[in-house]
Amino acid sequence: MIAMERRVHRPFVVAESKDGSHKFVWLGLDEADAEKGILTNQYLVVDGDEALLIDPGGRFVFQRVYRSVAEFVSPDRVVGVFYSHQDPDVAGSISLVPEFFPNAKIYISALWSRFLPHLGVETGLDIVEIPDGGTEIPLGRHSLAAVPAHFLHSPGNFTLYDPAVKVLFSADIGAAVFPPGEWYLYVEDFEKHASYMEGFHRRYLCCKQAIDAWLSRVKNLKIEIIAPQHGSLFAGENVRRFLSWLESLKGVGLYCR
Ligand code: FE
Repeated sequence: MIAMERRVHRPFVVAESKDGSHKFVWLGLDEADAEKGILTNQYLVVDGDEALLIDPGGRFVFQRVYRSVAEFVSPDRVVGVFYSHQDPDVAGSISLVPEFFPNAKIYISALWSRFLPHLGVETGLDIVEIPDGGTEIPLGRHSLAAVPAHFLHSPGNFTLYDPAVKVLFSADIGAAVFPPGEWYLYVEDFEKHASYMEGFHRRYLCCKQAIDAWLSRVKNLKIEIIAPQHGSLFAGENVRRFLSWLESLKGVGLYCR
């Protein structure tokens, strides 16, 4: 196998409030990580001098994630880590959190908290169990909403809405799997991008009913950016394009052939 080219992308502020005190940050990526495991996006929301880390990922990305976070906020000011669900590419590095982000509460579905000791961390986690109906997560002068997305794909699954910058972190909803050698941060050609999303959505998501339940929860939100855990950001027109693509998706989950 030919080694993939290392193309390292630096973290940057995707969206920020007018006064600059609230920021949504994409934490960068190394394209060569695709050789080790599916590419993942990590995000940080900063409000004043506090920050919330979103789906920090597995152990092999943790060093990059930690360094990227430290460019924007002191790691001891990370007051929360949000886990959309329990998968290894989401929570695999959780045993490193107490040492590197010592003041962070762990936000995760109440369904998954008792499974966390199996990831190698038995003490030191300050866990806030998110109830099935969702919750508000305070951050600085604002708060974010954990929006239920159960069975998309995990039985205890949350997306996260940040009203201060109108960003919806959509976890595995909107995930894309790129062919070898291809990657881009923003969706431009939606039709091509849909071909990278379809297989994942039809095989991993549970069923159309779960999709419809989530769509009804997000349809009245003002959304300028949808930021999934894998793949690319949907901005502008592509936000509505993605939501209507998802609504019309056929052969999902139990009905996937
Ligand atoms: Fe997952």
